[in-house]
Amino acid sequence: MNIHEYQARDLLSSAGVAVPRGAVAKTAEEAEAIARSLPCNSFVVKAQVHAGGRGKGHFVDGYKSGVHLVKTPHQVREVAKHMIGNTLITHQTGPEGKPVHSVLVGESTEIARELYLAIVLDRSSGCPVIVASQQGGMEIETVAEKKPEAILREVIHPGLGLQPYQARKVSIFLGFPSTGLRAPCRLLHAAYRLFIEKDCSQVEINPLAVTKGGDVVALDAKLNFDDNALFRHKEIQDLQDPSQEDPRDLAAAEHHLNYIGLEGNIGCMVNGAGLAMATLDLIQAAGGKPANFLDVGGGASEAMITAAFRLLQADTTVQAIFVNIFGGILKCDLLAQGMIAACRSNPPRVPIIVRLQGTNVEQGRKLLKESGLPLIPAEGLLEGAEKAVAAASGKKGM
Ligand code: ADP
Ligand code: MG
Repeated sequence: MNIHEYQARDLLSSAGVAVPRGAVAKTAEEAEAIARSLPCNSFVVKAQVHAGGRGKGHFVDGYKSGVHLVKTPHQVREVAKHMIGNTLITHQTGPEGKPVHSVLVGESTEIARELYLAIVLDRSSGCPVIVASQQGGMEIETVAEKKPEAILREVIHPGLGLQPYQARKVSIFLGFPSTGLRAPCRLLHAAYRLFIEKDCSQVEINPLAVTKGGDVVALDAKLNFDDNALFRHKEIQDLQDPSQEDPRDLAAAEHHLNYIGLEGNIGCMVNGAGLAMATLDLIQAAGGKPANFLDVGGGASEAMITAAFRLLQADTTVQAIFVNIFGGILKCDLLAQGMIAACRSNPPRVPIIVRLQGTNVEQGRKLLKESGLPLIPAEGLLEGAEKAVAAASGKKGM
């Protein structure tokens, strides 16, 4: 789960990380009032969306950048007016962008150096890892690609935690003098504590700024939480913002479906994560692109099947649906009933390819046949995938 920058900086600040003064505003008037209350003479106005790359982004109406530095409270108001209610597009939002409902108004910091600092879960070592670079700011992706030696990765033993020598090593790599390690080390320990205590999958501070006055301040913050641990953190769950989520993901979560939206046009309904992955691979191998990963699971009820099928039908990018079920605990006749119920209330708009095997397959096929639904049957896996690809591209001869 993602949260907004203004929420992330509150959490960092409570953990002991210095952040610039500021507050969130939902209207242009509020934004101006916040600016007037800040004891400074230049301000930053930042669009709040669940995506990075805002500085280099643009709004759908052509207005440039989701991060503006301005001199007066009146200008803060003008910028906020442009941003709130607008949609920001960055390289992380996809072409449709994300809606801006609030802005963070803060004091502008005099930056001497922009550093990069993140703590993420590293799959290869199975440990948290600190990722640090002196070349922080808006070009970090380029640094990672072109100058990997400018990035330090320090693996933390989860049982031992961040060791003092590791905090010093990272701080020195970040260019702090050996006489000035206290502030960055304290910050690293605070960020690591937050990462562990809140079950984060990512704490990213980019830029971590060294100010002209020598302070170390988090100017941007992105926190990501492990969904499977959210039940332990009611206070984090409350930070959820549905306006920033893919509506397909929201509908799936409501029905406890394992669903991930993808970019293609073939909707998939499969039981079992392994078969679902194999189905995506086969669609790809047959020259098509899946619109989603959807594992209805072994113990799916008829209502869940109906909800899953409705979800695929409601997705306007879907041009064909491939139902690939290997009946085990989930019986094929129950699946057929769920599909039929979904199609009764919502007549099929696109071709549906069905491959059923396993428990109660005969009853399932019979139910589907008698339903009179215009389904395209398939026996084998590859055959099903090929028929789905042909149907999605509008080819005859299926
Ligand atoms: P994003 O990563 O989404 O582009 P950032 O919050 O990192 O957004 O802002 C982009 C750039 O704007 C930063 O790299 C920094 O140079 C500048 N910036 C951000 N916040 C401040 C601030 N409070 N004072 C001065 N400059 C800032
Ligand atoms: Mg940033």
